[in-house]
Amino acid sequence: MTTRLPQLVTFDLDYTLWALWIDSYITGPLRREGDTINEVLDKHNESISFYKDVPQILHRLRTAGVKIAAASRTSAPTLARSALTLLLMPPDKSTDDKPMRAIDFFDQLEIYPGSKLTHFKKLHQKTGIPYSEMLFFDDEIRNKEVEALGVTFCLVRNGVDDRTFEKGLAEWRKRHPVEVAEGA
Ligand SMILES: [Mg+2]
Repeated sequence: MTTRLPQLVTFDLDYTLWALWIDSYITGPLRREGDTINEVLDKHNESISFYKDVPQILHRLRTAGVKIAAASRTSAPTLARSALTLLLMPPDKSTDDKPMRAIDFFDQLEIYPGSKLTHFKKLHQKTGIPYSEMLFFDDEIRNKEVEALGVTFCLVRNGVDDRTFEKGLAEWRKRHPVEVAEGA
């Protein structure tokens, strides 16, 4: 039995994928100790890591062919990209592949200040995916404004975890019941 998934899942960064404000807490340059999994250090050895359930969630989406995006309004886009580039994700549990760069999971990155309506309009333009096929995880309720476009918004508390992820998927499925033609 297959589980229906949206075509695009988008994640905010600060307090959604990692537990910090990258523009106020982190100072470049960033570095990684060897091939350390899921940890990057800043100039003062402050640590950046994804919340613990995030790597497997990214693997699951990728394996299912779901597009993945990040939408952040941080004022430090270069640092955010640098962190995503350096962070190594553990291999998928079901395979013995090598670690992957976090950034390679993301099909689209929209990282700049301003209303997330702009971020989602860009995502729609670039991917051609309808808003109804987009699910968005974010820790700030103000960003729920993207629902005006037709995106499904899921509020995150204490970072994305398996439970929150399932909650978001359930909400998206509820709003978008299976079309008759999709049966089989
Ligand atoms: Mg945030």
